[in-house]
Amino acid sequence: MHELSITESILEIALRHAAGRRVVSVHLVIGELSSYVDESIQLFWQELTRGTLAEEAVLQFAREPGELLCLDCGKQFPVRTRDFICPHCQSASALPATGQDCYVDSIEVFE
Ligand SMILES: [Zn+2]
Repeated sequence: MHELSITESILEIALRHAAGRRVVSVHLVIGELSSYVDESIQLFWQELTRGTLAEEAVLQFAREPGELLCLDCGKQFPVRTRDFICPHCQSASALPATGQDCYVDSIEVFE
């Protein structure tokens, strides 16, 4: 259910940015390694925006590729498989470096 709190934050950002204008669309970036589900965010968005200036705003989703950081050789590599093996040193100790977040990339408002 963490989509509810992220959707609340997205709406808060959108309304603050709009400063009394109507929000047309909100562009979101969702990291490949995050567990956010587009459909859930979309669903909460419809609920939360009701009666607000963002009521008719369209959510646009973009994916950000995930990268892992190898803890043994310190190199970053893109996530291709789910086994998280470093292609440089074959280590299995890697942590997500990018692609874990969900954030607002841009907001369009009605001028
Ligand atoms: Zn490595």
